Amino acid sequence: MPVTAIYASRILTPQEQLADCVILTENGRITAIGHRDEVKIPSGAMDYVAAGMTVVPGFVDVHIHGAGGHDVMEATPAALDCITSTVARYGTTSILATTVTASVDETCRSLQGIAQYIRAHEKHENIEPNVEPNVEQQNPEPGTPELAAEILGIHLEGPFISKARRGVHPPDAIARPSVEILEKFRAASDGLIRIVTIAPEIPGALDLIRYALANGMIAAIGHTDANFEQTQAAIQAGARHSVHFYNAMRPFSHRDPGVIGAILTEPDVSAEVIADGIHVAGPAIQVLLGTKGFDTVLLASDATAATGMPDGNFRLGNFEVMVKDGVCRNAEGKLAGSTLTLDRALRYIVALGVPLIDAVRMATILPARRISLAGKKGIIAVGADADLVVLTADLRVVGVMTRGAGLV
Ligand SMILES: [Zn+2]
Repeated sequence: MPVTAIYASRILTPQEQLADCVILTENGRITAIGHRDEVKIPSGAMDYVAAGMTVVPGFVDVHIHGAGGHDVMEATPAALDCITSTVARYGTTSILATTVTASVDETCRSLQGIAQYIRAHEKHENIEPNVEPNVEQQNPEPGTPELAAEILGIHLEGPFISKARRGVHPPDAIARPSVEILEKFRAASDGLIRIVTIAPEIPGALDLIRYALANGMIAAIGHTDANFEQTQAAIQAGARHSVHFYNAMRPFSHRDPGVIGAILTEPDVSAEVIADGIHVAGPAIQVLLGTKGFDTVLLASDATAATGMPDGNFRLGNFEVMVKDGVCRNAEGKLAGSTLTLDRALRYIVALGVPLIDAVRMATILPARRISLAGKKGIIAVGADADLVVLTADLRVVGVMTRGAGLV
């Protein structure tokens, strides 16, 4: 792959802001970054001039169910190709494929399909040479589209959630927190579950949090009716993340601060927020940011198959959702995920008054750091993956590079 030289008026790495810079990429990685007078451009490099534009790292979405008409639980190469290429057009270059509550067997089938896809792509990209030989036989060479987000792992959103705060997750398949079931899921996913959502107040939750932690998963608090003390116990046991903060949580009250009060006052726990102007009111996001600061709030989409599609009916896991005016609901009229893309979330957060560099951090380095991939993803730095987004002054996406591909 030839060297690409990207000239930008401004770069947000996003640890710092640099003016009049050039980024060199080769073989899917960033190989140099600096002022245009300082970086030596190899002869034969392909130039991309982003005059008047801002270049930021590709967005990292740790909570996304689907896009382009497909749901991750379909777990076929065609469905996952469609989802990853659809979100890449909006600047999302890495995702955690997020499951919803379904039966144990059905969830295992989905996890196996997603894991095979991830392993096949790792092999394809030569990132991990020691892939089991039979994986390739089971899964034909992936038809990688040019521009595609990378699936970094899996976010298991169900079934260990509260029936009282289940949102649209089907009640029949909700399960008590169970190490045995999570072990099954872990095996089916080939160890690729990175986040598991758990309602802390359900018996068995604390043991499951400890098991998740001991096995390299992030225990996340979500879909929960937990009170303040129950949430603190979960944090004590090792929970460090919270899923679509405010949504599907016991509401805050000044005499009963509950899960929301516990997370707002705990700096070590990160919070996803769905910044689409529908799931959470703007002032509530300002309360979240005002309390927790800009270092622990992540933009997540909770996007469904309807994302990037016209209004209509779509699947979420194994149930149907209806989309009207871009708002996704189930048959009872409950909000059922979103049609949000992270570029829109970024614009929304900036319109709330968040400085652009902090907003970019919420969509890039902070989620990457949450899943322990901060040096590789969500950052413009030498050695990191060449995942880049070019933004206009009004924060529209006009160019995307995913691991060195795209950005024409
Ligand atoms: Zn979700």
